[in-house]
Amino acid sequence: MRHRIAVVGSGPGGLTFARVLHRHGHPVAVLERDTGPDARPPGGTLDLHEGLGQRALDKAGLLAEFQALSRPEGQAMRILDADGTVLRDWRPRPDDRANPEIDRGQLRDLLLGPLDVQWGRDVTRVVPGTRDGVVVHFADGRQETFNLVVGADGAWSRVRPALSSVTPHYTGVTSVETALSDVDTRHPDLARLIGDGSVAVYGVNRALVAQRNSGGHVKVYAQFRAPLDWHTNLDLADVEAVRSSLLALFDGWAAPVLELLRHGTAFVHRPLYVLPVSHTWTHVAGATLLGDAAHLMPPLGAGANLAMLEGAELAESLATGSGDLDETVRAFEEQMWARAGRWAGFTTAGLERLVSPDPTEALALFDEVQPS
Ligand SMILES: Cc1cc2nc3c(=O)[nH]c(=O)nc-3n(C[C@H](O)[C@H](O)[C@H](O)COP(=O)(O)OP(=O)(O)OC[C@H]3O[C@@H](n4cnc5c(N)ncnc54)[C@H](O)[C@@H]3O)c2cc1C
Repeated sequence: MRHRIAVVGSGPGGLTFARVLHRHGHPVAVLERDTGPDARPPGGTLDLHEGLGQRALDKAGLLAEFQALSRPEGQAMRILDADGTVLRDWRPRPDDRANPEIDRGQLRDLLLGPLDVQWGRDVTRVVPGTRDGVVVHFADGRQETFNLVVGADGAWSRVRPALSSVTPHYTGVTSVETALSDVDTRHPDLARLIGDGSVAVYGVNRALVAQRNSGGHVKVYAQFRAPLDWHTNLDLADVEAVRSSLLALFDGWAAPVLELLRHGTAFVHRPLYVLPVSHTWTHVAGATLLGDAAHLMPPLGAGANLAMLEGAELAESLATGSGDLDETVRAFEEQMWARAGRWAGFTTAGLERLVSPDPTEALALFDEVQPS
């Protein structure tokens, strides 16, 4: 008899898992809380590494389509100090395919393809170890039973409590995100500053990062060290009040850099939370986690990549392995924990250096990781 498998969440991890199982002809229930693919803005751009996200897409049979959609030129990276001095201006070679960028919305559509996602299925909890298998409870009061439930439901996972009592904690760094559209026509000076890829400006305990997405869209991230309640006297829904507050926080920075904040259309507040580095749990039959649900880490270009590769690897071993669910999942977890632990350590140390009292640390980190 075939195993009944469900994945909770249709982010990059859940969709890659489902897509690889689908490729192997194995049915999977994709349970997603959002009411449809466009229920929320899809977010910014992701760089997919050759050895991680691209490997996952290869396992899903989607690498060629990814290569046609992605932006290798988006790997370009310019680093400025708070005075606006250009410290590094790195551009990829034309044939460099190490970390091309793709809009999240494009990646989601690529992965969705023929998948039949169950939208509007808000999972409230998961109960393993019942006589019939793992019971999934939904917000509308319904419940369903599966042989394996994979929690790919992100930072605030509702599957995780069935395996681990650990919850995310605040890093001490907050990010406020804004966006510019039609940048080449409406803000040509900013378009030149950003170039084909990203510009990052580092000051004392602060950073401003702007990333080009496709179609002239740009996402801007203002990152700074602050207590969680830094906005107590600020109405986060008041765009002009948030703008003034950010301009005050970045006071004294070069005028062209501050233009990134002056032209942003709306602001989204995202305090950066993480799970402890090397988070593991005692194996529970019939349930597991992958992606941010398992190892939420600072957003330094690894989370989606890891989630996708984990999804692809678990799906592949379920489809082609011994058929023993428990044995397959245990082996998957060991492999995931080892790799994710290394990345969590690296990105945690990275965040400390990028939003640091000593801005030269950010430059030193860039020089350590960037090919010359
Ligand atoms: C600003 C920023 C930039 C980033 N840039 C990069 C980058 O360049 N490269 C990179 O690799 N990573 C990047 N990351 C990290 C990356 O976004 C995450 O690691 C990645 O999205 C995790 O994928 P996931 O599938 O595990 O979870 P998610 O993408 O969080 O998806 C979880 C899904 O589960 C659904 N869900 C949640 N709760 C429930 C529920 N109760 N019931 C049903 N469904 C539910 C959600 O609606 C969502 O669709 C960035 C993150 C941020 C914040």
